[in-house]
Amino acid sequence: MEALQEHTILFTGLKDGSHGFDYKLGAAFFKACGDEEFLGGDVEVHIDLDKNSHLLVATIHVEGHVDMLCDHCNAPMHQRVQGDQRQIFKLTGEEETDEDELVGLDPHAHEVNLTHYIYECITLHLPIRHIHPAGECDPAVTDALEQVMVNHEPDPRWAKLNELKKNKGA
Ligand SMILES: [Zn+2]
Repeated sequence: MEALQEHTILFTGLKDGSHGFDYKLGAAFFKACGDEEFLGGDVEVHIDLDKNSHLLVATIHVEGHVDMLCDHCNAPMHQRVQGDQRQIFKLTGEEETDEDELVGLDPHAHEVNLTHYIYECITLHLPIRHIHPAGECDPAVTDALEQVMVNHEPDPRWAKLNELKKNKGA
């Protein structure tokens, strides 16, 4: 997703060591990410940024919920999300690396934007299927689905009933 200015960290001004950053993601973030599956949400983000002379190690922690449609009843639901992801930035300007976790930053860079990594951390920790807890699905849809299951095989009694109705009407 597109970088959001609020997730830009000016690291050149930071001393070596650990630094904490906190963000709250709400409707604006989930709208900006352009993912049609995300209707909204409320997620707290904590980033621990460990800086030394040649590396920035960002440990991203997300915790909260994303509003999505239930895979079962298609009504909106809160999908809980919680997890961590680590991202390492190299400050020495070697952009080519075999390690996925390592991203090379321009040696002249002063800042790094974390929007993409925060978004990635959320999507990484969302389950593939999102379903309401048992008993909380839209009852109208649940009933309809049960009917479909029950009536999967055409019931011969309906055919008889229809025949009777037809004869009566004639
Ligand atoms: Zn549901």
